[in-house]
Amino acid sequence: MITAVLFDLDGTLLDHEGAAAEAITRSFPDADPAWLVPRWTELTEAAVDRYLAGELSFTAQRRARIVPLARELGLGDWDEARADAWVAGFLALYQAAWRPFPEVGRVLDALAGRGLRLGVITNGDAEQQRAKIERLGLADLLRHVVTSSETGSAKPAAGIFRAACAGLGVPPNEAAYVGDRLITDAQGAAAAGLTGVWLDRSTEPAPDRLEVPRITSLDALPRLLEPDHSTEPR
Ligand SMILES: [Mg+2]
Repeated sequence: MITAVLFDLDGTLLDHEGAAAEAITRSFPDADPAWLVPRWTELTEAAVDRYLAGELSFTAQRRARIVPLARELGLGDWDEARADAWVAGFLALYQAAWRPFPEVGRVLDALAGRGLRLGVITNGDAEQQRAKIERLGLADLLRHVVTSSETGSAKPAAGIFRAACAGLGVPPNEAAYVGDRLITDAQGAAAAGLTGVWLDRSTEPAPDRLEVPRITSLDALPRLLEPDHSTEPR
C-alpha cells in the first residue's frame, strides 16, 4: 500500500530542458541553436556530474560550463569574473523560463486528494531547488523536499531515498518515487526499497525487460498507484 509519493524535480515536474534551451539561445542569439543547445546540455551534464561527485563546488561547476563554451564560440578565454557575470545573466533568463510540465498541477492535486503524502528528492543545490518549487507554485503541495546538498547523499545512492522516507515517517515499501532517469531515479529508488517509477518522456520505444514500471506522462501515475493496480513492470 503506497502512502507517500516522492518526485524528482528537473525533467519530471519542471521542464528544465526547455528552460535551459530557452536561456542559452537567448544568451547567444547569433549561434546556431542546433549546435548550441545540445552542446550546452553536454557541458552542463558533465559539470553537474563532477559537482555531485564532490570534484567541483557549485560555483566552479557553473564556470566549468561557460568557459569552454565561450572558447568554442570564438569569444576567447574568460576569467572567473567574466564567467560569473555571464552566469548571473544566464540564471535570470533560466529562472524566467521555469515552467512545470502541463499535467503537473492536476496530477499532484489528484494524489493529494487521495490523502497521499507528497514530496521531492532532488540532486542539486538546496537553495536553487527550493526556489524552483516555490516559483512553480508547488511549495504548498510539496512541503517535504530532500536535496543532495543537504543530505550528503545523491541519487542513485540508497541513503538519500531512505532519508526522505524517514523524514516523512513512512517505510520505504510504502513510498513511490517517480523520475525521468531510469538508473538514477527509478532503479535507484527500487534498490532502496521504494516503488521506483520511470517517467520516460521520450518518444523512443520502451527498452526490453524493464525492472520498474514505466509511464510516458505523469497523467498515468494516479492509476498506476491505485491500491488494486500492480506496479510490477509490464
Ligand atoms: Mg530529472
